[in-house]
Amino acid sequence: MRATYIKEKVETLVMGTKLISVTDMCSYKFCKRGLYLKKVLGFREPLKPVMLLGSIRHKVYDDANNKEEELVKQVTSDLNRQEIVQMFSNAYNAILNKSVYNFTPQLESLEMDKNEVTEQMCETVSLQSQNRADEIISFSSKEKLFGQELWEKLTPKILSELRISSDKLRLKGIVDRIEVHGNEYVPVEIKTGKAPFEGVWPDHRLQLSAYAMLLNEKFKVKIKEALVKYVKTDQTRQIVMNPFMEHEVTTAVNDVFNLIEQKDIPDFCGKSYCSICSFGDEYEKHLVKKTAAY
Ligand SMILES: [Zn+2]
Repeated sequence: MRATYIKEKVETLVMGTKLISVTDMCSYKFCKRGLYLKKVLGFREPLKPVMLLGSIRHKVYDDANNKEEELVKQVTSDLNRQEIVQMFSNAYNAILNKSVYNFTPQLESLEMDKNEVTEQMCETVSLQSQNRADEIISFSSKEKLFGQELWEKLTPKILSELRISSDKLRLKGIVDRIEVHGNEYVPVEIKTGKAPFEGVWPDHRLQLSAYAMLLNEKFKVKIKEALVKYVKTDQTRQIVMNPFMEHEVTTAVNDVFNLIEQKDIPDFCGKSYCSICSFGDEYEKHLVKKTAAY
């Protein structure tokens, strides 16, 4: 058994773990054992409804963002607020329906009903569309700009699903959204879980600090702040960057590389809500090998 683990570990290293993902770095903070089973032994949790909903949601926001230029150019002086909000809402809904439809095979494999999923996601998607429409309306009325000119001058513009990596930081990741205000870049993460009483959860802070460092390097700018949007309760929380957070990220990256080189499977994390540790030593029965279709 042990020999197999070592062989697989060597293969993983040969295949290249030079860059770790920001997600893996955050998983390390949550459960070392879980990350070890994933990174070193190549196990995955079988696809679960919550993961699938997350993938659909990402696709919706990315597609909606890609459609933004077309929508903004249709904002003319003869439309009232309600008509503009409705235009955004219709577009986002059409994207939601299409995204859910495109995930049919995965939804069917989990016996999830397409209509129920659409209905479940409809409220947050519609809230997102309204928020974005309002931002654009407010910019348009302040600057007295419409159509093509509005699109050219619109601030902030949104970059979505930006893939980013750094050999120096030994990190890679995909940033959900980046608000671009002139030369200022603000990474934004959309979270569906509940918001803490104040501020953001520690793993969200770590994740956004890592994105900020990656963006610093890519755009040669200093990222000053990041935002977490807790969509369920429609709350936006700000994170102000500081050197301590950079230190926290560098340390976490080192810790992950040390973990990968470790020979033994780490002990259970002790969290009652950790699904991987809840499988105990029989994790092989409950997890699937890397080749799973997601
Ligand atoms: Zn655990």
